[in-house]
Amino acid sequence: MLAIAACAGAPPSRHEYEHGAMGTTFRIVLYAADPARADRAAAAAFARIDALESVLSDWNAASELCRAAAAAAAAPGHPIALGDDLVRVLARSQAIAAATDGAFDPTLGRCTQLWRRARRRGELPEAAALAEALATTGHRHVTIDAEQRTLTAGRAGIAFDLGAIAKGDALDQALAVLRDHGLPRAIVDGGGDVLAGAPPPEGSGWIVGLAELSADATEIAPIRHAVALAHGALATSGDSWRALEIDGVRYSHILDPRSGIGLTERRLVTAIAADGATADALATALSVGGPDRAAAWLAHFPGAGARIEWLTASGMTACAFGVWPPMMSAPIESKESRRER
Ligand code: AMP
Ligand code: MG
Repeated sequence: MLAIAACAGAPPSRHEYEHGAMGTTFRIVLYAADPARADRAAAAAFARIDALESVLSDWNAASELCRAAAAAAAAPGHPIALGDDLVRVLARSQAIAAATDGAFDPTLGRCTQLWRRARRRGELPEAAALAEALATTGHRHVTIDAEQRTLTAGRAGIAFDLGAIAKGDALDQALAVLRDHGLPRAIVDGGGDVLAGAPPPEGSGWIVGLAELSADATEIAPIRHAVALAHGALATSGDSWRALEIDGVRYSHILDPRSGIGLTERRLVTAIAADGATADALATALSVGGPDRAAAWLAHFPGAGARIEWLTASGMTACAFGVWPPMMSAPIESKESRRER
């Protein structure tokens, strides 16, 4: 009897953690039999996210991203050495930019800086400044050599903004840390973008509420549906967050890379993919491309799918593309499962 009890061990219990990083709150929920191991794993996962922030941030001039971009921008045509994390995220960014005809573009840095300032001041960027900034952008003007681990800029003045993929990559890396600590039954949430590992002990997936478009542009509608997610990521992008409203027109924080101007269509995109970086970047790309381009772009990403909601003159329309829903989609009542950004 004693021997059996000793072998059986404690059943896994649920542990939850929170940590502020990358301008949002990251959450981890995991199942572990040993609370001390759970605490150690969560602390290591959050430390990994902090380390990534210091590499990938375009808000901090001392980040590796900003230093590499400045060096590349000052010396077009000359390869600049990159660290492992930066080369991984830039290479993935370039691949997704190519697969989405540049709708997701990591080189919009100069334009997004102008729009951040515009939102602070409550006025549109000046047309001349925007044109000048736009002339520095274009993923096609950047070469990432993943083997040599270098970045080469083809034009002067280029600046990066990885804000549409960095959180997703952070989810991937955080979940990998939890797995390395022997805790695969976990989900990581980065301000509404989530990556699920193995499902909880009971159930086939983690229940994740879906944000919906509201007729009121300033808010997300109450959550009415949920999906069960395991071994996959789900990310949401749209104009309901961080928009600038001028003369009744709402300019999204997501820019159309062709014009450098914030999107004015009312759209909400929820994308799923095998990994967080891809889901995050796809949600942004599909916000730009909308329902017309979704099927063609998603075809480049096996297992990926999306739900796009948009507002037309006759009301709200929604359509699913690629693999959707992730596992199951069910109505939910509880207000507690409201997702936040
Ligand atoms: P997300 O919330 O993931 O859709 O990312 C939006 C953020 O990514 C914006 O706040 C900008 O920093 C940046 N961004 C805006 N437009 C684009 C775009 N078309 N491609 C890539 N990044 C973008
Ligand atoms: Mg994104």
